[in-house]
Amino acid sequence: MLQMPDIYTPAKRSEVMRAVRRLDTPPEKRVRSLLHRLGFRFRLHREGLPGRPDIVLPRFRTVIFVHGCFWHRHRNCRKATTPASRHEFWMTKFSQNRRRDARVRRQLEDAGWRVLIVWECQTLHPARLQNRLLSALGPNA
Ligand SMILES: [Zn+2]
Repeated sequence: MLQMPDIYTPAKRSEVMRAVRRLDTPPEKRVRSLLHRLGFRFRLHREGLPGRPDIVLPRFRTVIFVHGCFWHRHRNCRKATTPASRHEFWMTKFSQNRRRDARVRRQLEDAGWRVLIVWECQTLHPARLQNRLLSALGPNA
């Protein structure tokens, strides 16, 4: 795991944390507008499903989570830094996030859903993202 100094002051860090919790993050918007352009129909943040998936494609029995690389610990990703201060706090937080993600995934798969994880950094490569979504969902004929 990468060890990086926390580049934010505490105030800035809380601001960043708040921004991360917003429902409509830019990476999410990028995935949604791409799906829309490709002609897929989807719903957002459907209540009643484990983990309240960001995007739900009922016809494909597929849910998509658009994960922030930092919070959800994208493996080998430069965005998944570890703040140097309050090391224990962050380690606990990260392992809770990872455990919750794994549990949610199991619950959804047990209920017959296919779970697709799109990482924040992957939304910056539209062509690759499009290929990935199309190969996961198949042609929308
Ligand atoms: Zn990443």
